[in-house]
Amino acid sequence: MMRIVDFRSDTITKPTEEMRKAMYEAEVGDDVYKEDPTIKKLERVAADIVGKEAALFVPSGTMGNQLAVLTHTERGQEVILEDWSHICRFEVGGIAFLSGVQAKTVKGTRGVMSLKDVNEAIVLDNDIHHPQTGLICLENTHNMAGGVVVPIDVMNNIYNLAKENKLPVHLDGARVFNAAVYLGCEVKEITKYTDSVMFCLSKGLSAPVGSILAGSEAFVEKARRYRKMFGGGMRQAGVIAAAGLVALDKMIDRLKEDHDNIKLLASKLNQIDGIEIDNESVQTNILMINIESSKYSSKELVEEMKKRGILTSVITDSIIRFVTHRHITKDNINYAVDKINEIMN
Ligand SMILES: *Cc1c(COP(=O)(O)O)cnc(C)c1O
Repeated sequence: MMRIVDFRSDTITKPTEEMRKAMYEAEVGDDVYKEDPTIKKLERVAADIVGKEAALFVPSGTMGNQLAVLTHTERGQEVILEDWSHICRFEVGGIAFLSGVQAKTVKGTRGVMSLKDVNEAIVLDNDIHHPQTGLICLENTHNMAGGVVVPIDVMNNIYNLAKENKLPVHLDGARVFNAAVYLGCEVKEITKYTDSVMFCLSKGLSAPVGSILAGSEAFVEKARRYRKMFGGGMRQAGVIAAAGLVALDKMIDRLKEDHDNIKLLASKLNQIDGIEIDNESVQTNILMINIESSKYSSKELVEEMKKRGILTSVITDSIIRFVTHRHITKDNINYAVDKINEIMN
């Protein structure tokens, strides 16, 4: 059997043995009646970790983000977002469809929006023609920028600007624990500059399913109603929340390994002719390589790698994404680099 090294996403991580055991033993109840003790515990623990009053367990990160937009905004408003943010580009146009709001995009530098650009994007005047700003969204780490961390001072400045304008800030923190590990701080130090935050349990943290949406008590209670409307009211979902508790207890610190591995992969791929890497964006567990100067298109190279068991994602005609996670070892990286060398030479 061919060896498979799967760099497509950290979402492919399987639950650990400890998670399986916790899932088997989980105490459960009907969570729509707020009677699932394991979910209640997960929501309490999750809220405390991000320093918010309350939290809501949701089936996916997308649902968490969409609930946040719906809960914070009114129809016809604008949401300020980074141009390549997940909410803008990878959630099926949900904010327009589900919340009736429009995206006001701001181009970031490596995913990071400048204070000046965000300030200029805010519209809060009395002109009857103008859509009014209802929300600012941030993404940390920024997926399409290659897992880049938005610095805390940038978050702080944008948050202050939002407060001066009485606007809420939502953080798409699908990988916010990667940001905290990179910065060497508690995740609270990042999320304190937001009114709400979504993070995924199902990515590098290895839980099989689930994300968290956290914020004030009032925000979470309103989001809970909308979650029911979206069809996300779950019953004995303590069986999956149990894995989430293990994820938060045991799986955060090991993200450092994924970051070390992406650096190793980047340093080796940097030596191959035809591959260019923006080294400044190599920070957490995502690596974008540019193969414009090689003889391949992204689709062709991804296909060549796939024939050799190396799975990656096409981002554009010349950009390919690698993601490291718990199932990627240093040995896997050496193996993959050997195969890529074979293809490129
Ligand atoms: C994965 C991801 C999401 C959504 O998560 P799903 O659970 O796949 O819906 C949201 N934002 C970012 C930045 C992500 O990478």
